Amino acid sequence: MGKLIKEDGETGRLHIDTPLMGESLVSKALLKTTEANEYFRMHPDVNVLKIGGQSIMDRGGQALFPILEALIKAKDAYKILLMTGGGTRARHVYNIGVDLGMPTGVLSKLGDKVSWQNAEMLSVLLAKHGGVKIGHGDNLEQLTMFCRLGYIPITYGIPPYGFFEHPAEHGSIPPHRTDSGAFLLAENIGARSLIFLKDERGLFEKDPKKVPEAERDQLEYYSRISARELLELDLDDLIIERPILKLLQRAKCLKEFQIIDAIRHPEHIEAALKGEHVGTIITKD
Ligand code: ADP
Ligand code: MG
Repeated sequence: MGKLIKEDGETGRLHIDTPLMGESLVSKALLKTTEANEYFRMHPDVNVLKIGGQSIMDRGGQALFPILEALIKAKDAYKILLMTGGGTRARHVYNIGVDLGMPTGVLSKLGDKVSWQNAEMLSVLLAKHGGVKIGHGDNLEQLTMFCRLGYIPITYGIPPYGFFEHPAEHGSIPPHRTDSGAFLLAENIGARSLIFLKDERGLFEKDPKKVPEAERDQLEYYSRISARELLELDLDDLIIERPILKLLQRAKCLKEFQIIDAIRHPEHIEAALKGEHVGTIITKD
């Protein structure tokens, strides 16, 4: 904490003695001293639910309506922020951008519109149940209030990096897309839980869709795994965006998140909100 020091003399001017004064904010030793024992959580009762773009929205009403019903049923008992993925349309625009040699930051700006479209559609579908689309500005401080008033706030998942997106480890697709956005927001608001609604029961050793049906039963399934173990496995493909694993290791509030199959089991939404283990749980330690 800084100290206010009253200067002697006639002016009575106040000076601030802050431990960070004259520091580069780069020193590891100094940065360690800024670690809090416990971080303040702004929305400790809000659950962040990310609705997959490709895995859910793109499948249309048949997939989405039972999920919306489950959400409407759950919303009085649980505070929910919905975040949306992009999906096939985002992949199409990335493909055109890649073909044109667009840099990652431009691709990031293209993808956010698709996730926004999905948020728009969800807010229309949920309007009469309190669905309200919000941006990434001041409304994020008001999430608990929205939920208390019976609203279901909905926002798009792409984090606002745009031209500031980090270079990708491989290729040019923006590494922080809607899974990362949901993760970062859940962490920074101190959310109660983070749940990814997808179309597989969780994490396997390989993408089940790329394995012949007869061999799918033999795939190893990870029902609970730590970020470190998963990084060590170095799987070629994952059910969530890869940057999340390193972010989770550094998380101050989130200790874990769950990935569930909301297509075959919309009832798992309420179960996961209750804290039941119905999909893959990825843990910080
Ligand atoms: P979203 O629609 O939420 O953005 P994605 O389609 O981007 O979801 O990612 C989910 C998909 O990832 C699943 O449908 C699955 O086919 C695929 N996937 C890739 N690797 C794995 C893996 N190791 N285990 C499970 N699913 C995987
Ligand atoms: Mg995705």
